[in-house]
Amino acid sequence: MSERIYLSPPDMSARERESLLAAFESNWIAPLGPEVDAFERELAARAGVSAAAVLSSGTAALHLALVLLDVGPGDEVWTATMTFAATANAIRYVGATPVFIDSDPETWNLDPALLRRALREASQRGALPKALIAVDLYGQCADYDAILSACDEHGVVVIEDAAEALGATYRERPAGSFGAVGVFSFNGNKIITTSGGGALVSNDDTLVERARHLASQARQPVAHYEHEEVGYNYRLSNLLAALGRAQLHRLDRLIERRREINVRYRATLERIAGIDFLQEAPGGRSTCWLTCVLLDEDRLGVGPEQVREHLETHDIEARPVWKPMHLQPVYGDSRVVGGAVAEDLFRRGLCLPSGSTLSDAGQRRVIDAFLGTPRLRCNEE
Ligand SMILES: *Cc1c(COP(=O)(O)O)cnc(C)c1O
Repeated sequence: MSERIYLSPPDMSARERESLLAAFESNWIAPLGPEVDAFERELAARAGVSAAAVLSSGTAALHLALVLLDVGPGDEVWTATMTFAATANAIRYVGATPVFIDSDPETWNLDPALLRRALREASQRGALPKALIAVDLYGQCADYDAILSACDEHGVVVIEDAAEALGATYRERPAGSFGAVGVFSFNGNKIITTSGGGALVSNDDTLVERARHLASQARQPVAHYEHEEVGYNYRLSNLLAALGRAQLHRLDRLIERRREINVRYRATLERIAGIDFLQEAPGGRSTCWLTCVLLDEDRLGVGPEQVREHLETHDIEARPVWKPMHLQPVYGDSRVVGGAVAEDLFRRGLCLPSGSTLSDAGQRRVIDAFLGTPRLRCNEE
């Protein structure tokens, strides 16, 4: 029996092990310490920003970003409907109202033309959103030239949810650096992981300093536990920061491997009629966090669910693409601008095993199992 192939498992080396153990031996176990400070410096440098606060999760970073930008009840926050629930949930944490924007059919990221039209219309009604959370989906930056110009026109502040895109670039600039605040995730399935963790980054050092303050229960710098505002317990531990530093050191290699895996999938599957790949837009470089395909059931004879179930019988984990937020029961009463593109992507989409630990032989197993799906018609395009 061969081993189970996971969608995107952690990729650890001797370096991570040594880094973690060295932090352990130093007895800086928690909460803060020199590894946290160093991880924050190194991450900020990598993301092309002046400061970073490392936190307990990407979700915590999104929540703090909204708190720091003074978003609250009565405010609208617009975001992509095609995203993971964490993006939308953070909007609800601060009592704001989410509005969802449809996807571009090529990149699956937020459709900038649709955004521009919707902002002009909202401006005429005098009902502009307080903020936009742009999402860098599946490792690819959203179209920031268009998004930032549309938002600047109306004074709407942008938060970049780069949870899936650490190390990606757009017009030579790193993911995470485009909004007033950027957010990363180091969850177990992301491109680098601290088992659980995240970060908030910005070119505004004061804002990042305030993030650290709010993330440490907003305790005033006096001995007697003085609090002037509500705080959170959101900081990353020193042990996990040690793990994160070792992972960050290997980031380029991890991205290279994911991109190689993407190229190999394309080489065998892209020529089959009815299989389309998520496209990389010109001017950007994706991390290829997950390789995603669209399956046309009419031409292929099977849809994503049949392929997924068949892969499962071979002990291979594939997943549907994110279910759009406007289709989620919890967000069913929210406003959506468009939505048909994201619905179609959800109906046809499938994420294939894409972890940087996936061997060539493992990937061969995935491809063979994919092509062995009962009733799949393998016609060349
Ligand atoms: C993973 C993810 C998050 C949340 O990060 P956590 O660290 O799991 O809290 C937020 N947004 C997107 C788009 C994600 O993929």
